[in-house]
Amino acid sequence: MPELPEVETIRRQLDPLVRGRTIRRVEIPDPTVAAPWSAARFRRATSGKRIKQLTRRGKYLRFEFEDGDTLVIHLRMTGRLTHLKRRPSGDSRRHLRLLFHLDDGFIAFHDTRRLGKAFLIPAGESRTYWQKLGPEPLGRSFTPARLAKITAGRDRQIKTLLMDQSAIAGIGNIYADEALFDAGIDPRRPAGKLTQSEITRLHASIRKTLKKAIELEGSSIDSYVNARGERGGFQETFQVHRRQGKPCPRCGHVIEKIKVGGRSTYFCPHCQKL
Ligand SMILES: [Zn+2]
Repeated sequence: MPELPEVETIRRQLDPLVRGRTIRRVEIPDPTVAAPWSAARFRRATSGKRIKQLTRRGKYLRFEFEDGDTLVIHLRMTGRLTHLKRRPSGDSRRHLRLLFHLDDGFIAFHDTRRLGKAFLIPAGESRTYWQKLGPEPLGRSFTPARLAKITAGRDRQIKTLLMDQSAIAGIGNIYADEALFDAGIDPRRPAGKLTQSEITRLHASIRKTLKKAIELEGSSIDSYVNARGERGGFQETFQVHRRQGKPCPRCGHVIEKIKVGGRSTYFCPHCQKL
């Protein structure tokens, strides 16, 4: 599933290509992508709009229009957003759910599992809408003190809390595992029991891990590709994620796979203290 680094990679690649461009026409081969809106309503709300800039909040991509409305794309499990010079035809239309015709090129939304979403937030509703998400982990407001406030008094396991989008935005299964390993914290630890020095370490590890992953253009472990249709490189540097049975890169102990909050979780029981 695309997490913050994958969505940010797509944003960085697409932004210069869509800035100042107008959506001339919208094809909606799979109208469920816009549900509960009808295809007609979605088409009316997006056609003719000029794009001011492409931004990101958590795992959401936001096409901000000049009139203040925002088109939001959430890739969920298998969504892909790519920029194309030519209109896709034949095989390249398989799993195509949305196609924006710009005045220069195309933005295609492919999605094999069809869980991704596209929706419009009218100007004026934007602020309220995004308030439900926690802080951006790479933003200025995310400080060790802020993380301490998020974890304080919480019985929930730290990994589950890190993946809760209303606590912190953008972190999913991959980066929660990798950041917790980097910080030397067992994913099952109750969040409220972390010490001050562990919180400081975890804060630094979250930012370091996400920044490194953006540098390497995200992780491709299943279907993720960037806006140019290329795979990311961060999966080559995984320390624990999907490495069960292999030696820990730090201590050589065997990496274990367990379930935390129903999600597959990879960690080193020797380096990550409970
Ligand atoms: Zn280890």
